[in-house]
Amino acid sequence: MSGSQIFARSIGPSVEGLGIPACANFDLAAEPVRKNTTLLIGGTHGDEPATVLLLESFLQSPAWAALDASAVIVLPLANPDGYKRGTRYNARGVDLNRNCGFNWSAASEEPPGTAPWSEPESRALRDFILARRPAKIVSLHWALAELDADGPQSTALAQAMWAALDEPARRPYRLRVTELGRGQRRLQQTYAICPGSLGQWCGYGLTYPDGSAPAMTTLELPYDPHAASRPDELAAEHLAELRTLWQRDSAGYLRAVEPGVHAMLTAACLF
Ligand SMILES: [Zn+2]
Repeated sequence: MSGSQIFARSIGPSVEGLGIPACANFDLAAEPVRKNTTLLIGGTHGDEPATVLLLESFLQSPAWAALDASAVIVLPLANPDGYKRGTRYNARGVDLNRNCGFNWSAASEEPPGTAPWSEPESRALRDFILARRPAKIVSLHWALAELDADGPQSTALAQAMWAALDEPARRPYRLRVTELGRGQRRLQQTYAICPGSLGQWCGYGLTYPDGSAPAMTTLELPYDPHAASRPDELAAEHLAELRTLWQRDSAGYLRAVEPGVHAMLTAACLF
């Protein structure tokens, strides 16, 4: 069994010259494209440390070691400058999850950059995805407490990840899938809230040369891992509550969410 081996490289420098690490269970240099590759992404927002730490612990887990037959690439830290500073944005104050080249909007509530793909971190991720053509992409964020599928081609992946959770583990989350087809006008309204996000580009904007599109899910971690249910409307202060909880007991938060998150990631890799 060789699955615990990790092949690491950088996919490109950040604004301040830091590497953006990629860790794979196969040799990225020897094999540019592997069939049915899964790409897991964390740390797009530098002030969401749990997304980084949960992917780093996944790389050390028995589940990772057992993924021999499935090609998996982990980008635990997509925004190293933001992580270093503890900020959502990159070093130039841009929200990398509003900087992608599909449905990009200069009027975005979060700073989207001067143009689509204006930031080196987003370009590095775009070029890496175009070169490696992952069939499945899972991006981790804080903390809307839901599993989102972007695009009809992503529904089955999200359902497989959801099926990996037992009923108690599902309680702090909800599952959101959209069956809206590409090019349907209603999408513009439905997704106006996150223009230029990675989910929109991969889920609706990206088609590989063979005509396929990646299955794209966003795993929004719980703001309260012990919540009895996920309310339809989140309280405005849910992020502030989470940051308080994190400062008090980050280890306890990670212990509570890790089994479910790792189960969903494993299901995505095996799908
Ligand atoms: Zn985020």
